[in-house]
Amino acid sequence: MQTALPKDLLSTATGQVADEILRNCVHCGFCNATCPTYQLTGDELDGPRGRIYQIKQVLEGKAPTERNRLHLDRCLTCRACETTCPSGVDYHLLLDTGREIIEERLPRRLAARLLRRALRLVLPRPARFTPLLRLGQYARPLLPAVLRKRIPARHRAVAFRTTTTHTRSMLLLEGCVQPALAPQINAATRRVLDALGINTLVAASAGCCGALSQHLSATAEARAFMRNNIDAWWPAIEKGAEAIIVTASGCAPMVKDYGRLLQETDYANKAARVSALARDLSEVIDIEAAARVLLHSDAGQKIAFHSPCTLQHGQGIRGVVERLLERLGYVLTPVTDSHLCCGSAGTYSILQPGMATVLRDNKLQALQSGKPDLIATANIGCLVHMENQADVPVKHWIELLETLIPRGTHDNGQADPVTGAG
Ligand code: SF4
Ligand code: SF4
Repeated sequence: MQTALPKDLLSTATGQVADEILRNCVHCGFCNATCPTYQLTGDELDGPRGRIYQIKQVLEGKAPTERNRLHLDRCLTCRACETTCPSGVDYHLLLDTGREIIEERLPRRLAARLLRRALRLVLPRPARFTPLLRLGQYARPLLPAVLRKRIPARHRAVAFRTTTTHTRSMLLLEGCVQPALAPQINAATRRVLDALGINTLVAASAGCCGALSQHLSATAEARAFMRNNIDAWWPAIEKGAEAIIVTASGCAPMVKDYGRLLQETDYANKAARVSALARDLSEVIDIEAAARVLLHSDAGQKIAFHSPCTLQHGQGIRGVVERLLERLGYVLTPVTDSHLCCGSAGTYSILQPGMATVLRDNKLQALQSGKPDLIATANIGCLVHMENQADVPVKHWIELLETLIPRGTHDNGQADPVTGAG
């Protein structure tokens, strides 16, 4: 595609990247075929090709309109279009730039600004989010059904404790909302990795990965979260932690991107190291090791796996969790249109509730069509978005593995005096 970006924009790194992405796009429209929002509205402007064109016009100097904003806001940043694109267009980078520039040139109305600010002030900050969530959960039984369904049920977990130490150590990002919404995920992760001979280290001052702020175009705030995490992890990295594990697939692409996002700052070297160490949880569990150490599910439990967009499109990890679950004896049920987003997409389900609800209902229909006993996924956002509406339990896949840890033993087969191994 030919471009005519102004010189002042082309003199910046952001402008150069945007120009290169635009030039890569050949306008073929293949990406529209896998775009969930284009499928729902049938409007070219709600597809990736149309969005790219609108961003191009704005970058070339055309004044942005509320209509441009609407079509960009409707994008889930699911990146299904990137998986489909034959030209390798890095759509999400262009989208970030387009959204940021529209935000600058066409400020939102006060109510919309306040809502987005409130989300940024609460969700990534556990000291604020957790008490508000608990308040909602206590009041839940008193609320009308329609509101009750919007408040996630409370999950509890037995804290992980062990006296065993292993030679291998990895840092674990506990996340911002996950410890309050589903503490059992981090606990299960630590138990499974312990059984597989890996210590998990948690840096107490690490927190939100920054993705929420980044996707709400608050880039300075996102960088502050990134720097905070890098500082929190650095001592363990210097001592030889072999990876930084992220259990929420929605956060993993962000941590893997710290190197690029901080490349022009004084954190560039450390950020690049963190990115090199960042791993989705599915990348650190060796299938054969798990098959040796863990029990096998011999009950033929039927699982529908929902592969989050951030796993399959954002990180390009496809089929790994599915193979692991099958190797451990689970029966996977077929899921049609498994490339499509469930509508969670960070704060999307709050900011675009109409589309998010349709996408969730479609996704649950596809997941439940094979009559599974349970739905497994890899991201806290998808889990919470679906669990109150699903007919079967929705869990993180690591919770299934936790149930397969031989009781009273850990990886070397000896009694674990503290945990009873989960
Ligand atoms: S598939 Fe790729 S090259 Fe084709 S229109 Fe979409 S983004 Fe552009
Ligand atoms: S990121 Fe997802 S919703 Fe956005 S344009 Fe691409 S496929 Fe469509």
